Amino acid sequence: MSKTMAIRIYENGGPEVMRYEEVAVGDPGPGEIRVKHTAIGVNYIDTYFRSGLYPAPSIPFTPGNEGAGVVTAVGEGVTRFKEGDRVAYAATLGSYADERLLEADKVVATPAGVDDETAAAMMLKGMTAQYLLRRTYRVKKGDTILFHAAAGGVGLIACQWARHLGATVIGTVGSREKGELAMQNGCDHVIYYRDEDFAKRVDEITRGERCHVVYDGVGKATFPASLDCLRPFGMFASFGNASGAIEAFNLGLLAQKGSLYATRPTLFTHIAKRADLEEVAGELFDVVASGAVKIPVHHRAKLADAVDVHKALEGRETTGATVMSP
Ligand code: NDP
Repeated sequence: MSKTMAIRIYENGGPEVMRYEEVAVGDPGPGEIRVKHTAIGVNYIDTYFRSGLYPAPSIPFTPGNEGAGVVTAVGEGVTRFKEGDRVAYAATLGSYADERLLEADKVVATPAGVDDETAAAMMLKGMTAQYLLRRTYRVKKGDTILFHAAAGGVGLIACQWARHLGATVIGTVGSREKGELAMQNGCDHVIYYRDEDFAKRVDEITRGERCHVVYDGVGKATFPASLDCLRPFGMFASFGNASGAIEAFNLGLLAQKGSLYATRPTLFTHIAKRADLEEVAGELFDVVASGAVKIPVHHRAKLADAVDVHKALEGRETTGATVMSP
């Protein structure tokens, strides 16, 4: 059994509960591979597992849901990969480590034209953008969409992609700097939702027509006003809780606001089956290879500094993707 450095969490809490320490990493079992990370993606969901908003399967645990690296060993029955292959993955807990074991079926080959840092920045955020825009509500040319936290990790990718699909994109952002960035990355309009009544602004921008879909990863702070941004039969896609989880609400609200649809999807369900993982990742790789969507890595850090990385993310200081190196 060899040793590796990893972040471990022994109790839920603030960023300080993350400890950087040596852990054992075994040989891959049947169907598994061992991967040495070259780049580790940081996502808001990592803070939910750390805080306890989302329960970890066991305690202690290693957080992190996105990474890229090289296969260092393959277990029995694995034919998909061999030692030395470049791979990337998302939505499999435990990426805050130098080296780890993974189910081979949850991993894809990193395309030749994509470097590891880019892969680690886009697997979770980019596949989320894919399923939101292409599966949850299929964005069409001429649609008007509202995307909250448009300058964030998922936001910058999704807004470029939505523009590429021909939508008019309205994004909310927390600062002027973020507003400029969002406008350079797909947004036609930005709303400074810390200062402005965003539902009122959406009404003004769309001349009362409102949006076909609202993508909301902010949660508590933007609910229920997000529903007021939708036209009749519009889709409320709630996919995250950056400001806290939305509390229980009466479904009758959807009737009052105009026969709305509401959904609460997760990437985990969308890529649970191998065929779906390949489809979602494949479409992401295509849109990146075509140049239509650029992957923004704006922050780099060492894994050992994960505490500071989480502080910055929760402090709304980051834009685009943060990637850690082992
Ligand atoms: P971001 O980089 O978007 O960071 C979160 C952003 O949310 C902040 O930068 C901030 O932007 C905004 N925000 C608004 N209110 C708050 C608040 N009170 N505290 C902190 N941030 C706030 O993160 P990610 O791109 O990693 O994820 C975006 C969202 O998508 C998250 O909610 C995440 O959980 C969700 N997600 C869901 C998935 C799913 O499958 N369901 C998969 C991937 C992500 P600003 O300052 O501009 O307001």
